[in-house]
Amino acid sequence: MPRYAMAIDLSLCVGCAACAVACKMENEVPPGVHRLWIRERELGVFPDLTVEFRPEQCLHCANPPCVPVCPTGASYQTKDGLVLVDPGKCIACGACVAACPYDARYLHPGGYVDKCTFCAHRLEKGGVPACVETCPTGCRAFGDLDDPESPVAKALKEAGRVDVLRPELGTQPKLFYLNAPSKKGLSQEREVRHD
Ligand code: SF4
Ligand code: SF4
Repeated sequence: MPRYAMAIDLSLCVGCAACAVACKMENEVPPGVHRLWIRERELGVFPDLTVEFRPEQCLHCANPPCVPVCPTGASYQTKDGLVLVDPGKCIACGACVAACPYDARYLHPGGYVDKCTFCAHRLEKGGVPACVETCPTGCRAFGDLDDPESPVAKALKEAGRVDVLRPELGTQPKLFYLNAPSKKGLSQEREVRHD
């Protein structure tokens, strides 16, 4: 059984949002809501300046707080580590939206909660998520964490630095950021760019 994960190399990401647009199209995400977005922030002081472009989406946490709070079982974790929502069971109470510390979920106008699925429908056919396929810089790696030959395992092994968002929460994210541009790690800003 795979343990799906994603890694994004921030030293390669240029914030073009091709991934965000591909996700919108692939998953028919309605206007005004997002499964995937880009945060960007300028870091440092002249002449030592850099920019962090950071795509964000559901981290498919290994210990996801969005699952146990769901009163209907609509929010669930698969054996291969995906965190998904069954729209048929979802009553749109919003408990999971409140529980997710990463703002990864939104209320779909169809009357259920939605979010990144790691393109589960593509994985079933042996494909990779649309964001991974589309990225022009190749900064996204996906696959089975337990397979040392998988792109994600190799990317993690080769990375100079690996960060996750808010590790102190114990959610155990399975979206890893590699080679953050700042020596201090991931930026903390709240500015978000949607495309
Ligand atoms: S990022 Fe949010 S929605 Fe995704 S698994 Fe973690 S807690 Fe749940
Ligand atoms: S909004 Fe839907 S998935 Fe989220 S907790 Fe309520 S019933 Fe469960």
